[in-house]
Amino acid sequence: MSRAAVIGAGTMGNGIAHVFAQHGWSVALIDTVPEALTRATATIRANLERQVKKGTLAAGAPDEVLTRIETGGSLEAAGGASLVVEAASENPAIKFAVFEQLDRVAAPDAILATNTSSISVTEIAARTKRPGQVIGMHFMNPVPVMQLVEVIRGHATTDATTRSVMDTATALGKTPVEVNDYPGFVSNRVLMPMINEAIFCVMEGVAEPEAIDTVMKLGMAHPMGPLQLADFIGLDVCLAILEVLQKGLGDDKYRAAPLLRKMVAAGDLGRKTGRGFYDYREKK
Ligand code: NAD
Repeated sequence: MSRAAVIGAGTMGNGIAHVFAQHGWSVALIDTVPEALTRATATIRANLERQVKKGTLAAGAPDEVLTRIETGGSLEAAGGASLVVEAASENPAIKFAVFEQLDRVAAPDAILATNTSSISVTEIAARTKRPGQVIGMHFMNPVPVMQLVEVIRGHATTDATTRSVMDTATALGKTPVEVNDYPGFVSNRVLMPMINEAIFCVMEGVAEPEAIDTVMKLGMAHPMGPLQLADFIGLDVCLAILEVLQKGLGDDKYRAAPLLRKMVAAGDLGRKTGRGFYDYREKK
């Protein structure tokens, strides 16, 4: 049986572990916070059971899938994996330390992938002695549902590593797309300026948030409007990614809207705090 390790059991890590285990891989799911592992296991079970209710998974499958996931707190458990996917917090210092340690404990031929949304894959790879075997494997949230995996080649990533990760993503039922490592890759390089422009429109009084989202949903066939999506992603995350684009590409066209900065400073971060461009507390 193929063996993967997933580092970080938060929003993304639990979904990534779920998808690998559902496709027959044994998975070591590793997090430094024990409660994160307990929560992740409960979330995976709930999501598998939802798939059973929808008729997309056999009734006995959740128990069987869960037996393939082992949880633990030490990176040593990544030792037996042929592919490691890092989905720890979006903080360069954490990622650099994790990759330095993974490089020591992982099998010499193992591929080390990162799910980072905005940190340079090339810089992460440079922390290891195997930069050719380091790559970005950018899953989308919610992982069991979303089709895309953006596969990001760092400066040194080899063709063999890229092929292997593209094949694995396909075998997991996803559609991989290969891109090169530049700030924001393709997904956030294209998405964030659109979200930012929508926020400028709110700030300048061009239209109300509902109107802007309706234009983009009905006029451009987007399933979610840009402001609804910003609330879902988290306004703090959007601001951090815009700062990476502005700094990394050295272009002020990525300058974050002052209204976005003000909302983040006020703690209105979107769904996770109950308020962003929309008020989620009213619905409760
Ligand atoms: P999260 O905060 O939900 O989870 C991060 C987890 O990492 C936490 O459980 C934390 O305890 C754990 N962690 C921190 N340091 C660790 C370490 N040294 N070793 C092991 N575990 C550690 O974050 P998330 O939203 O799941 O994001 C994870 C990664 O995925 C980030 O790089 C993020 O940019 C990326 N990403 C997030 C989304 C999204 O929509 N949330 C989408 C695509 C990519």
